[in-house]
Amino acid sequence: ETGVTFVDVAGADQAKLELQEVVDFLKNPDKYTALGAKIPKGCLLVGPPGTGKTLLARAVAGEAGVPFFSCAASEFVELFVGVGASRVRDLFEKAKAKAPCIVFIDEIDAVGRQRGAGLGGGNDEREQTINQLLTEMDGFAGNSGVIVLAATNRPDVLDAALLRPGRFDRQVTVDRPDVAGRVKILEVHSRGKALAKDVDFEKIARRTPGFTGADLQNLMNEAAILAARRDLKEISKDEISDALERIIAGPEKKNAVVSEEKRRLVAYHEAGHALVGALMPEYDPVAKISIIPRGQAGGLTFFAPSEERLESGLYSRSYLENQMAVALGGRVAEEVIFGQENVTTGASNDFMQVSRVARQMVERFGFSKKIGQVAIGGPGGNPFLGQQMSSQKDYSMATADVVDAEVRELVEKAYSRATQIITTHIDILHKLAQLLMEKETVDGEEFMSLFIDGQAELFVA
Ligand code: ADP
Ligand code: MG
Ligand code: ZN
Repeated sequence: ETGVTFVDVAGADQAKLELQEVVDFLKNPDKYTALGAKIPKGCLLVGPPGTGKTLLARAVAGEAGVPFFSCAASEFVELFVGVGASRVRDLFEKAKAKAPCIVFIDEIDAVGRQRGAGLGGGNDEREQTINQLLTEMDGFAGNSGVIVLAATNRPDVLDAALLRPGRFDRQVTVDRPDVAGRVKILEVHSRGKALAKDVDFEKIARRTPGFTGADLQNLMNEAAILAARRDLKEISKDEISDALERIIAGPEKKNAVVSEEKRRLVAYHEAGHALVGALMPEYDPVAKISIIPRGQAGGLTFFAPSEERLESGLYSRSYLENQMAVALGGRVAEEVIFGQENVTTGASNDFMQVSRVARQMVERFGFSKKIGQVAIGGPGGNPFLGQQMSSQKDYSMATADVVDAEVRELVEKAYSRATQIITTHIDILHKLAQLLMEKETVDGEEFMSLFIDGQAELFVA
């Protein structure tokens, strides 16, 4: 008994719709078998961690009112040889006695990797376990009433035998929620919490693109903890906002001792990012600039990425070029103000980001004329599913030279654009850096007012 139903899973409407069918099979098997339909045996839930796959599986059992047997696939492989297979056998034996029911195997990629792929050093134990799993699934006749649900965030590494018809022949994608979905998830996780009237879920949802259900749950909990630490009776929008920034960028080190000199440097560095970002046509708006140190960073500039772009996952060439210029804006500002000899190591993260973007543009996106519209450099990890496998270079030394030259050219172009913007708007840079040194944080509106006063124009080139 899971006690969870679809009501507890917010936002994942498509996945719920597809799983409704499984619920229906479990509730009215006769309706299907009377027509000669075979009940599906397995259904694979695919999606990034924290999107609610486990929760959905429990909800299916709850909706159908059937028992729920669950295990994590990693449990099968960590034990002694032969134990994994026998555990699978036991699990299915128990399940069959309670049919109709659901068997849930979490993180199935831990046992279900392609056999003989050499990953993990050819684990015999894993092979035996997966063979046993396949045998069990083939073993129960069309309508024994045991439906196997499994979850993974790596469908690409699963053994083909698992995905064959009659096994996990259904796949349900559980994606990161969109704005509307995030609003609903926030509502679910605010139940039982005292919220102030100024809390607007819509606004929070807009500020949390890419967040999963688990991330949002964590956000609301952190906000509640903050409110308690501040001795408040209610969680207000400030606590949520602070919790959000803390999650994204690490906790603020309010008491860190920072020399006046370093503060000045960080202020100009962040002002450089913000200024270039604001003046690039079609770039994300600046949401907040801060020179309070957090985690590794001395300061941070927050941009508000557009929902549309995040949702589609499509980035135009000019967007990526702008992004590189924005990332370099920090170093450029340091250089312009403090001189080439006095630049610091503070820009190393910026450089890493720039190099990665430039290399992807050349190797993967076909944005380089000299390399052409081809993807080189081995398979890329699926960005949506994370965990990039180590990529192997599959091109010659000669091509490697061209790639390096192309990458360098892209970076140099971005650098010169950033320099141009900063030198022509140096007065705004000074004003912004000054404001940052006074107030430590500057929000988007205040920042924009500097431009209206300064009558800046968008950069064209
Ligand atoms: P996954 O199995 O995909 O990694 P989980 O199902 O374990 O994710 O989700 C972790 C927690 O995040 C859940 O217990 C739940 O509290 C929260 N959560 C995730 N997705 C949702 C959702 N769509 N609606 C409500 N809560 C969610
Ligand atoms: Mg899970
Ligand atoms: Zn920077």
